[in-house]
Amino acid sequence: MRQSELFPKTLKEAPKGAESVNHKLLVRAGFVDQMMAGSWTLMPMGKKVVNKINKIISEELNKIGAQEILMPLMHPKNIWNETGRWDKADEIMYKLTDARKRDFALSFTHEEIFLDLARKHVFSYQDLPLALYHFSTKFRNELRAKSGVLRGREFMMKDLYSIHASQDDLDEYYWKVAEAYKNIFACIGFDMHVVEAGGGVFTEGITHEMQVFADSGEDFVYYCDKCDWAQNKEIFKLKEGGVCPKCKEGIIGSSKSIEVGNIFRFGTSYSEKMNFTYTDENGYKKYPYLGSYGIGTTRTMGAWVEVSHDERGIIWSPEISPFAVHLIDLPGGRGQAIYDSLIELGVEVLWDDRQTGAGEKFADADLIGIPVRLVSSEKTGEKYEWKMRNSDGTEYLDLEQVLNKLK
Ligand code: ATP
Ligand code: MG
Repeated sequence: MRQSELFPKTLKEAPKGAESVNHKLLVRAGFVDQMMAGSWTLMPMGKKVVNKINKIISEELNKIGAQEILMPLMHPKNIWNETGRWDKADEIMYKLTDARKRDFALSFTHEEIFLDLARKHVFSYQDLPLALYHFSTKFRNELRAKSGVLRGREFMMKDLYSIHASQDDLDEYYWKVAEAYKNIFACIGFDMHVVEAGGGVFTEGITHEMQVFADSGEDFVYYCDKCDWAQNKEIFKLKEGGVCPKCKEGIIGSSKSIEVGNIFRFGTSYSEKMNFTYTDENGYKKYPYLGSYGIGTTRTMGAWVEVSHDERGIIWSPEISPFAVHLIDLPGGRGQAIYDSLIELGVEVLWDDRQTGAGEKFADADLIGIPVRLVSSEKTGEKYEWKMRNSDGTEYLDLEQVLNKLK
């Protein structure tokens, strides 16, 4: 991609009123645009990042037998009434009435919609288990939509739902999803913690949150400095600085954090309310056990910026960077030659072909944060200057060496 054609241009200043780092940097670098509080357009590079996050998620979920679908976002009142959530979730739901006075809700989650779908197709124990997921917009009437893309009123989520013939089978799948989530966040590059949490209004049992430690986070968690034990502040009853109840060695510390995902077990409560049964091996009618598992995909992009930036801009991990290479072409450089070779090899390159000064080009490269910067100029001659965004060291490489290093 030629940077002269890339939409939009970068901004020198952060937008007025922007408080959080992800808001300032993602807007300045041109990844997102705010339409109104809590509503964001994903610009071309922002869309690329979210696409990459989604691809990583899909690959892991497909491995555990989940299938991708796409469910509607406008839902009739009657389905939400079956579980009582039309009234109970009134504060968070956006509701609307059409010209014929029919009531609808915009999707804030999809448990009921998934179960309504499943009960039309699942009749016997042989149809279970079933796991379906989709990537789509969620609408939530959040009280305060601040923190950039971390808390939107309209945002992107991956939500996965599963139904099972028994609690044991649900439990087993629940832990498989937890493992898949660990793989997803490790692949992106996060140091993610699986944190025990209460069920809130959704469920009575224990749930788990996928948390990324960050000073800018709205959540607060306690964790062991030696093992993987962690609890959120809502259920934590021990003492900070005390000994870890799990490994009995580590010390309990605390951190602010960002919830990037979570997993829930609902048991049969929702299928009972929705009168959704299947026939078991012995011919008896049974209620399926429901699990629900979310990842905030736009929040994940924002969380990455919160934990990986410096005073000059964003520092993407290679896995979710919009481009693999930022090629800076300066007077006397041979940008075109290497650009063509990289494109031919399928390497994603942002080629700064603009007629602007070197200083502006370098500042933009640091702001945008692509992991590898290549400079071609009179000074580099036949070679290219290679620099990683997360270090200051430079190397001079010829075309073949560059191509080898990118592999
Ligand atoms: P929070 O406690 O932060 O409000 P939640 O418990 O309401 O999150 P869920 O309803 O379980 O979250 O949604 C699943 C995932 O969607 C969350 O883990 C988070 O990553 C993301 N998410 C939730 N609310 C928002 C929002 N307003 N904007 C962006 N992402 C969100
Ligand atoms: Mg919430």
